[in-house]
Amino acid sequence: MGLEHAAAMQTEITDQRIEGTRVFRAPGRVNLVGEHTDYNEGFVMPAAINFATTVTVAPRADRRLSVFSENCEEAIEFDLDDPKLRAASHWSDYVKGVAVVLEQSDHRLRGANLRIHGEVPIGSGLSSSAALEVSTAFALLANSGHCVAPVDVAKLCQRAENEFVGMRCGIMDQFISCCGQADRALMLDCRSLDYRVLPVPTDVRLVISNTMVKHELASSQYNVRRAECEAGVHHFAQSRPGVRALRDVTETELERARVDLSEVIYRRCRHIVSENARVLEAAEALESGDLDSFGQRMNESHRSLRDDYEVSCKELDLMVELAGHVDGVYGSRMTGGGFGGCTISIVEAERVKDFERTVARGYEEETGLKPEIYVCRAAAGAGEVT
Ligand code: ADP
Ligand code: MG
Repeated sequence: MGLEHAAAMQTEITDQRIEGTRVFRAPGRVNLVGEHTDYNEGFVMPAAINFATTVTVAPRADRRLSVFSENCEEAIEFDLDDPKLRAASHWSDYVKGVAVVLEQSDHRLRGANLRIHGEVPIGSGLSSSAALEVSTAFALLANSGHCVAPVDVAKLCQRAENEFVGMRCGIMDQFISCCGQADRALMLDCRSLDYRVLPVPTDVRLVISNTMVKHELASSQYNVRRAECEAGVHHFAQSRPGVRALRDVTETELERARVDLSEVIYRRCRHIVSENARVLEAAEALESGDLDSFGQRMNESHRSLRDDYEVSCKELDLMVELAGHVDGVYGSRMTGGGFGGCTISIVEAERVKDFERTVARGYEEETGLKPEIYVCRAAAGAGEVT
């Protein structure tokens, strides 16, 4: 379908006079602490952020989905009954994947016109992909008269990304986009999906600094790290069959095994084991309002990711270092997979302007790159915009 036709159609669906037009939004997220622990069945601590993807949905009489992304300025259309729907390394994979997985899980869908408006920076590690999946799922389900619990929507969206798009991601992004709460972070147990709701003081901001780099290493090294963790699990499971993931390994066990592990595998395991412990300590700190202690755990997390897990890069290290020199910063670390992307800093609200100025200037002087800085608060999870 050409762009012109799509544009005409989309004027139609945003017209509020059309019966049944509804709007749904789903937020991006930032992980405060607990990095690379998700696929080790450990703990993470994400918060949803006040940058979201919005989907406007209007029903159609047939079984077609016609989708327009404002960000990509492109329309696509497909039939829900098409047996040949496959991923094609295109943004529409996320929408198709969600539709296919919903149908496979017995949520029969009506046809619809969808218009997507994304304000989550794309490809920067703030999970614009989960925001797109979750907002699409909410829109398609509501448009078809289905009511599904947010946790189940998260699982279905993760399946769409794993099985249809072909990205081996954990559950964290979809979970927090569905279940986030305003002024709260969640400590999520990636094994059981149990979670603890933790207060984020209203006088601090979650400040996300985008290094504006993404090194090629990111996806290949992600797979290497997963394999290294599996090698660690294999070692521990030989002496204790109860070990299913690095989540099950204690610090004492790790130290005892040091002589038997290669130096690299030992350090990878040490990051995961210590990072899980840090998330638990950080949760206690937030619960008791101790931001200094919380910030320390963030700083330690960064050092562990840099030195033991080796997924940082000079731009991330520089951004964290610059943040550390600003008054009113409790803690700072890389967030996301690493090798570029963003850092997260917890900053006193009244010091944010100073942070933006100082960090942006320092970073640009050193790298020649202008960083983007997003000043966020912990936001609510997905829902209908009324
Ligand atoms: P991240 O989730 O960190 O932003 P990903 O690479 O996982 O990065 O997902 C980004 C991809 O998601 C984009 O390349 C695009 O295919 C899709 N996407 C996200 N938001 C939108 C949008 N508003 N419109 C179209 N595609 C989008
Ligand atoms: Mg993503």
